[in-house]
Amino acid sequence: MTTPVIAIHGGAGTITRASLSAEDEARYHQALADIVAAGQAVLNAGGSALEAATEAVRLLEDCPLFNAGHGAVYTSEGRHELDACVMNGADLASGAVACVTNLRNPVLAARAVMEKSEHVLLVGPAAEAFAARNGVATVTPDYFHTDARHEQWLRVRGQSRAMLDHDASSFAFAEKTAAPVEPIDPDHKFGTVGAVALDQFGNLAAATSTGGITNKQPGRVGDSPIIGAGCYANNATVAVSATGTGEAFMRTVACYDIGARMAYAGQSLEEASRAVVFDTLPKVGGRGGVIAIDAQGNLALPFNTEGMYRAYGCGELAPVTEIYAAPA
Ligand code: ASP
Repeated sequence: MTTPVIAIHGGAGTITRASLSAEDEARYHQALADIVAAGQAVLNAGGSALEAATEAVRLLEDCPLFNAGHGAVYTSEGRHELDACVMNGADLASGAVACVTNLRNPVLAARAVMEKSEHVLLVGPAAEAFAARNGVATVTPDYFHTDARHEQWLRVRGQSRAMLDHDASSFAFAEKTAAPVEPIDPDHKFGTVGAVALDQFGNLAAATSTGGITNKQPGRVGDSPIIGAGCYANNATVAVSATGTGEAFMRTVACYDIGARMAYAGQSLEEASRAVVFDTLPKVGGRGGVIAIDAQGNLALPFNTEGMYRAYGCGELAPVTEIYAAPA
């Protein structure tokens, strides 16, 4: 029997000690620890990696601290459009939804697509109808509202740029200006969420869920629901969930590339994930990070930003939570 392991992330970006109050920091550590513990409980009870990753992401979606589900960011039209994906490493089964607006837990909709349809990716109203028919809870759009996210959007609406929710000093589509762009929401850092897990039976799984990027164009789909870009799992190599500038992760097929490096070039999990995060992604302006786990239970959590909300738990050991690049 393999010792089960789970890791989660809550987004990467300009997260500095100076920008996060001690109270907020403590809230993030507590939320991350609680959610990893819930994932560990699933695994330690004999649950599958897929069940544990789905459950962890469901809890992250419900937590307003993170940009997924309740607490998601706003589009340029002041709405929420959510993306999510799950993948099972044992058989490469996967499911995803994009641009959904009324599903409480997009990750459960992604799982329904995987298990109850013959497709991999459903989008928009048809995805919502499919999920509702299959028992996924619906909500009115105001469920996703949080004052912090709304204030953040009000600061950038009308500008022709979209911004990473948790990385206010970077911008995905803006023209470069000489002056540095000020953080739009220095007091509240949120993030896309994800989980990767290895179960007692040696199976890997990954799940990712997001509201995308603040002020994004309606209809924009990022990397999170795209297999191989923002989410990937294959028992032969790795389970990965990504966060960051989605277009760059799509253009480099970042999560799949980590597995490919391991399969074809014989790289270790550490080598492969660091090469993608510190070499491949920056070449196309990609900023962010990944959480990755291999079939031996090795973990890699590299990121090329100032911080990444992250946590992991092995077997019965207490969860470990981290935010910044170096330990406090
Ligand atoms: N990767 C996400 C997206 O582009 C954003 C994030 O990770 O915060 O939709």
